[in-house]
Amino acid sequence: MDGLSRSETEERGMGDRMQASAPAGAAGGTPWHAQEIGAALDRAGSTPHGLTAAEAAARLARNGLNRLPEPPRGNPLLRFLRHFHSALIYFLLSAAVAAAVLGHMVDAVVIAFVVAANAVIGFIQEGRAEQALDAIRQMIAPRAPVLRDGHRVSVPAEEIVPGDIVLLEPGDRVPADLRLIKVRNLLIDEALLTGESVAAEKQEPPVAAASDLGDRGSMAYSGSLVAAGQGAGVAVATGEDSELGRISRLMGSAQPLVTPLLRQIDGFGRRFTWIAILGAALVFAVATLLRGYPWDEALIVVVALAVGVVPEGLPAVITITLAIGVRRMAARHAIIRRLPAVETLGATSIICSDKTGTLTRNEMTARRIVLAERQLVAEGVGYAPVGGLRGPDGAPLPAGELAQGAVADLIACGLLCNDSRLHQHDGDWRVEGDPMEGALVTLAAKGGLDTAQVRRAWPRMDEIPFDAEYRYMATLHRAADGGGTIFVKGAPERLLAMCAEQAGGRPLDPAYWAARIAEAASGGERVLGFACKPAETDRIDPGTLDRGLVFLGLVGFIDPPRDEAVAAVAECRSAGIGVKMITGDHGATAAAIARQLGLAEAPKVVAGADLDAVPDADLPRLALATHVFARANPEHKLRIVRALQSTGAVVAMTGDGVNDAPALKQADVGIAMGRKGTEAAKQAAQMVLTDDDFATIVRAVHEGRTVYDNIRKVIAWTVPTNGGEALMIVAAIALGLALPMTAVQILWLNLVLTVTLGLVLAFEPAEPGTMTRRPRAPDSPLLTPFLVWRILFVSLLFTLGSFGIFFWAEIRQLSEETARTMVVNTLVVMEIFYLFNVRYLHGRSFTWQGALGTPMVLAAVALVVIAQLAFTYAPWMQALFATGPVPLAEGLIILLAGVATFAILEVEKAFFQRTGLMDRMGGA
Ligand code: ADP
Ligand code: MG
Repeated sequence: MDGLSRSETEERGMGDRMQASAPAGAAGGTPWHAQEIGAALDRAGSTPHGLTAAEAAARLARNGLNRLPEPPRGNPLLRFLRHFHSALIYFLLSAAVAAAVLGHMVDAVVIAFVVAANAVIGFIQEGRAEQALDAIRQMIAPRAPVLRDGHRVSVPAEEIVPGDIVLLEPGDRVPADLRLIKVRNLLIDEALLTGESVAAEKQEPPVAAASDLGDRGSMAYSGSLVAAGQGAGVAVATGEDSELGRISRLMGSAQPLVTPLLRQIDGFGRRFTWIAILGAALVFAVATLLRGYPWDEALIVVVALAVGVVPEGLPAVITITLAIGVRRMAARHAIIRRLPAVETLGATSIICSDKTGTLTRNEMTARRIVLAERQLVAEGVGYAPVGGLRGPDGAPLPAGELAQGAVADLIACGLLCNDSRLHQHDGDWRVEGDPMEGALVTLAAKGGLDTAQVRRAWPRMDEIPFDAEYRYMATLHRAADGGGTIFVKGAPERLLAMCAEQAGGRPLDPAYWAARIAEAASGGERVLGFACKPAETDRIDPGTLDRGLVFLGLVGFIDPPRDEAVAAVAECRSAGIGVKMITGDHGATAAAIARQLGLAEAPKVVAGADLDAVPDADLPRLALATHVFARANPEHKLRIVRALQSTGAVVAMTGDGVNDAPALKQADVGIAMGRKGTEAAKQAAQMVLTDDDFATIVRAVHEGRTVYDNIRKVIAWTVPTNGGEALMIVAAIALGLALPMTAVQILWLNLVLTVTLGLVLAFEPAEPGTMTRRPRAPDSPLLTPFLVWRILFVSLLFTLGSFGIFFWAEIRQLSEETARTMVVNTLVVMEIFYLFNVRYLHGRSFTWQGALGTPMVLAAVALVVIAQLAFTYAPWMQALFATGPVPLAEGLIILLAGVATFAILEVEKAFFQRTGLMDRMGGA
């Protein structure tokens, strides 16, 4: 359903009725909800036909945009200070004070500097990530239909001004506070404002002035959702002046940057910090009591140990990794509304997708017309009204034949029971509204009708809008001479069940029609039925609609699969992701499209009605085995998601209608259509597709897997540095050796590595073969046994390597300064080589591509090298960090240690991959 399309005739009809029901006279101080419609319009300075564009622009300039003020982000200073609020930072700061008191001024300053640097980096990165997410959310800013200059136009909701006539349709979000001037079975969900979960019934007459917000039936409030029916209202308050604006000042702030993963890591980090502090105390005791270190020196060492062991930069880098994933997805038309979806997408094991417009192009062409006694074929493809109708033998139909009889009625029905409009754009014919309805306008033109003239001659008096629940649409039209007709179009079985008669005055022949439907559907055509009957009054009564309804015939539409969808379905197969088509369309049509998409050789199709007969207990097995759910309604979707989830699947589900919201919320990843989707669906969804394309979902899954991989890589790369540092200090103290690194050197090492190489992994592109692996199990731990082994093994390698170098320096009788500088450099070099190994956890790193890296990798490496050269050779750095110059030969040995690390880890990786041990240990 598209909220943007309603014919001009209908607008006029509505206007007339409104004027009739608008008594004169304004009531000055009465609240809007207690005011008569006419008085409200006067007071708002409007008319039933809306404002002029010029007046709207003037009011916009005066009133400002219809939006709420940015939710408070909190005082920036407080937000900055929050980055200091952790046990480790307090610990470090007290250590800095202790160092200063003990006269270790350099240490004190360096510790303070590192703490500050960490807070600044965290603060800046968090701010940037939040900004990026906000900007991306802006990409799905809502629009709303209003009347301007008497025409229905869709404007950004932000540009609505008081006095605008706003039109409401199911699934729309009410964009401003409205005094309703026309109501048709309008139900509005006001839970956001009133907390009431049952949708409120709306009305045109005023209510008592003293009514509570929830009882003001004559109003629709900004932020509430249209659950059903239709309506129009005059905007009386926008932006901050609306009721929502009033309460949002009291309500919460921006969405915080948390996901289950971040929370897990945060908790992890906190526990880790306490362990580190306890461990440090223990080491301090051992060092002073058993090993006889002077207590002030031991204290500094212990502080260094605590700093070394905690990966303090990790949460920031992981947030950045997530934010980058969100940005990459947005660039590929997938807008993440809730951050956790990024993680869940990567684990998706089943995608349930709509057919029309998602798997198919939704560019419809009416191809086949089936009448009671013959079939016709329409020429041409697309919406251009060129070509004509031909008989089954290919002979063009004479114009006279088209002007009357069943074919004329059918074509007129398709044109009038229709909300779409065609317009030409750069020579291109486009539809505004439902593509299938657009195709019916084109068909009418091909059939020789002057579409604008016919629509003008037959104004619409009443309607039952299309709903996926009952699958038909009806309109009532009355010509100038007084003759009235109800036209109905919808799913053919549905219409056949409502008719007893067919065109030509004969009784309905269901077998004939069923055979024709099967014929058309087996080729993948979307089939629509048409019916009509004379109208006595100007209202359609749904209860008696089927009395005397005459079946006119069928139209078959072609709607080819999207080319990208075929490739995306194949990709899903290789990635171990199941694809289920859930459609309101006919089973045979859906099966044919499923075959064309390569969903299955012989797709298993289950109809929604059959699903109703299946008990919940049997549903999971059936749902897993089924490829196509046809004639399914939104409740079926909800049952299907639940059934699939009960098998342990991680389910992504698409939706567009207002009734899809429950299924979207239930799904692990609810996906709304950005173009044809309603606001209700978008609000319920975690992700919105700006191009409505199935391939976009698959790309987002790909990106989600990459993000998760990168987070694991960040951890696998970062933690061993800390492990190596801690092991070395503990070993040195246990063996009573001189410390291989000083506290400030450890701080330097952590800082330099985190902001350069650590960050690089957040930007890593996907590894080849990302979509040939099976989805990760949803309950698999972040640190698989393999990664735990990896972290321990690399920590050990780092310890051995740097200790080896330390001893070598001793043998060569180099100064203590130089020896320690060599240890720091060894760790850095080993980390650089390890980075190249970690970039490909699933494949080999020893390839051209692996060796070349990315510009980002190379830039980061260059940066680290420069920093290390300064650290080693610059006199002021030597003074600050107590470092000493490293001779060339030793430099080469350090390089060799890096190469050796790389070689060992490549062999280890190949071994684990070849033997299948890696998979058995939970994978990389
Ligand atoms: P889907 O989008 O999954 O193809 P829908 O729920 O949109 O399915 O439509 C289901 C059926 O309802 C269609 O197969 C068609 O028969 C009928 N239908 C769809 N749109 C309209 C409409 N605008 N007017 C009348 N009938 C419609
Ligand atoms: Mg549809």
